[in-house]
Amino acid sequence: MVSRVIPVDPFDLVIFGGTGDLARRKILPGLYNRYLAGQMPDEARIIGAARAELDEDGYRQMVAQSIEEFVPAQKRDAAVIDSFLQRVHYLRIDARGTDGWEDLARMIRKDVVQAFYFSVAPSLFGDLAERLHAHGISGPESRIVVEKPFGHDLKSARALNATLAAHFDESQIYRIDHYLGKETVQNLMAVRFANILFEPLWNARHVDHVQITVAETVGVGGRGQYYDQSGAMRDMVQNHLMQLLCLIAMEPPYRFDPDAVRDEKLKVIRALQPVRPDDIVRGQYRAGKGPDGTPQPSYLDDVGNPDSRTESFIAMRVEIANWRWKGTPFYLRTGKKLRARASEIAVVFKEVPHSIFGDDEGWRENVLSIRLQPNEGMTLSVMIKEPGPGGMRLTEVPLDMTFAEALGADGQDIPDAYERLIMDVIRGNQTLFMRGDEVEAAWAWTDPIIAGWEARGDRPRPYDPGSSGPEDALMLLHRDGRRWREIRE
Ligand code: NAP
Repeated sequence: MVSRVIPVDPFDLVIFGGTGDLARRKILPGLYNRYLAGQMPDEARIIGAARAELDEDGYRQMVAQSIEEFVPAQKRDAAVIDSFLQRVHYLRIDARGTDGWEDLARMIRKDVVQAFYFSVAPSLFGDLAERLHAHGISGPESRIVVEKPFGHDLKSARALNATLAAHFDESQIYRIDHYLGKETVQNLMAVRFANILFEPLWNARHVDHVQITVAETVGVGGRGQYYDQSGAMRDMVQNHLMQLLCLIAMEPPYRFDPDAVRDEKLKVIRALQPVRPDDIVRGQYRAGKGPDGTPQPSYLDDVGNPDSRTESFIAMRVEIANWRWKGTPFYLRTGKKLRARASEIAVVFKEVPHSIFGDDEGWRENVLSIRLQPNEGMTLSVMIKEPGPGGMRLTEVPLDMTFAEALGADGQDIPDAYERLIMDVIRGNQTLFMRGDEVEAAWAWTDPIIAGWEARGDRPRPYDPGSSGPEDALMLLHRDGRRWREIRE
């Protein structure tokens, strides 16, 4: 089955921060991929904007380099790249000054979709919104795309929402969480709401627990200073893990419509119980050795702050107080310098009420595993009879629910999350973007947890790089008679 590509309407997309890391690694290569796929029409224009002294040729060279670096060789076609680059322009604009704004006002077309991607530090979001408005560049149909982090706590998120709301209606604001753009995350909604099989089992009566793991092998790298002000809770749990949890736990929306979906997600966040200190384990990676034996710095070295109490790992047990989920714990876990780069949601079903096969050792509970990276996919583990003559022994087999062959998606044709989300912006579809009230509700749940650590002077537990996190994180499940799933690629 070949996926259908429906071209979007002509657009002007301005990328503020068009020379930055995110633009070079994700946004520009993603747009090229969509152009190659025939989704971006010839009338579309991409306008990179930053303060750097670059002319149009210089910027096009930079874009060509990022395609060379971040697009796989089999997708790089010289003629298509050349044609794509004709659609790329550059303007020198200072978000905080006057440079470039009149040029942008002249350049932007009023009769096509206008989108403004704020791929700059959040401290500049307000300046950009204000100037777009003051120079008459944006109109009631324009869209703005806002990167993470969206605030540092409830107060700052509210202030940011208010700043944007001064110039843009909520229907024009696209807050990116790229986890929502992943193919399998959307497939999760299809599996839940387009099949009769799962929904009757999707509740505390049949689901024993849910595990959400987002594990990275890298440390904080060059982002040390930023990360130390943030930590795993703010950087990952408040946004990405929370969004995944919402999609798993939400009630069926009445329609696959942006506000219907986001209303249901918001109800989940509001139903989250405060988390007891005993139900959270924070960790910080120690110094260690890499796979090749080279010494690796500790978290404290990486951030240059020997007294830091910021966590590079967090595991927590979360409860949702509503009819559907009362009694089913959700275990969340994320961290850096762990044993593998792997993101997975695992829905672990309950045991059968009575085993007619006795205490077979091969017996396992059914698990629906949704892998976000690497190798996006979905498997359902089921028990079958071990083949062959002899007694009735059971064995667990995974059912591949990705159906990669049937869909012709060998991984090359699945658009990256950013590609999909940018096309959704152009189409005006906000379903996979966070609404302002969702972000605020997530902070309202997160803030007291962080305030609790600060008040208690809580220190993260050290863990070895390449491990699964601190020992105490294992205990979090052991004490409930459960086990974490292995972190593996
Ligand atoms: P970056 O590499 O530091 O790039 C920042 C960009 O902003 C540059 O193009 C810079 O160009 C421009 N800029 C800075 N000050 C400006 C000003 N006064 N006026 C106009 N342009 C200005 O940052 P990034 O990593 O691309 O991140 C961009 C945003 O995406 C941030 O909000 C970040 O949190 C978010 N984000 C990034 C990643 C990632 O993987 N990189 C992932 C998730 C979210 P000039 O200095 O030439 O002006």
